[in-house]
Amino acid sequence: MKKNCCFPIVLSAPSGGGKTVVRSALVKSCADYVFSVTCTTRERRPEEVNGRDYFFVTAAEFMKMKEKGELLEWAEVHGNYYGTPVKSVTRAMESGRFPVMTIDVKGAASVRAIFPEALTVFLLPPSLEVLKARLRARGEKPERIDIRLKTACEEIKEAYKFDYLVVNDKLADTVKAVENLIKVNRMKIMYHLNFIKEFEKQLENDR
Ligand code: 5GP
Repeated sequence: MKKNCCFPIVLSAPSGGGKTVVRSALVKSCADYVFSVTCTTRERRPEEVNGRDYFFVTAAEFMKMKEKGELLEWAEVHGNYYGTPVKSVTRAMESGRFPVMTIDVKGAASVRAIFPEALTVFLLPPSLEVLKARLRARGEKPERIDIRLKTACEEIKEAYKFDYLVVNDKLADTVKAVENLIKVNRMKIMYHLNFIKEFEKQLENDR
C-alpha cells in the first residue's frame, strides 16, 4: 500500500464515548480530514444513511469482501461485523487527505500494525456517570446498555496502547485537542525529509 505524508487518524472510545460526534465535527472543521466510511452487518438506525454513516451489507456480502481482501481490518463488535474497506483509506491518502477512522480497539490495533505512523486517540467521557447518561440519552434499552458497559470494560484495557487520551467533556474542546494532536503529528521529522534534504542541498551550494 502506498504511503505518503498523510496518516490515518484513529478515534476509538467505548460506546457512548462520543467518537461519532467528534469525528463529524472534525471533518467539518477542515477539508483535509475525510471520514473513512466503514461496512457493517448491523441494522441501520432510522437516522443513518447508507454510504454516509456506514455501508450496510449482509453477512454474506461482508464475508465476500473479507475473502477478496477488500477490508483493511475488520472486527466483530456487539455481535455484528464491522470492517474498513481498503479503498476508504487509500483514496483519502492518495488525494493528500487524512482518513478519520472511528473504529473499535481491535480495529485500531490492526491499523497500527499496517500504519505505524497512524495517530491513535482514545476518547473517554469525564466519568462513568456521564457515559451511562449518554447511553440512556441515545434511547438504548437497559439490557443493551449493560452489554455496552461490559464491552467498555474490555475496551478500556486497550487504552494504554493508544498514543493519546482525550477526555471528551465539551465537544469544541475535544475537537480542538484532536486538531492540535494532528498538527503536532504532522511536524514529525519523517514528513519533512524532502524539505530538510532540499534545505541541506541549498546550504551546501551556497558555500
Ligand atoms: P455502532 O454500532 O455503535 O455504530 O458501532 C459499534 C462499534 O464498532 C464502535 O466502537 C465503532 O467505532 C466500531 N466500528 C465501526 N466501524 C468499524 C470498522 O470498520 N472496524 C472496526 N474494527 N470497528 C468499527
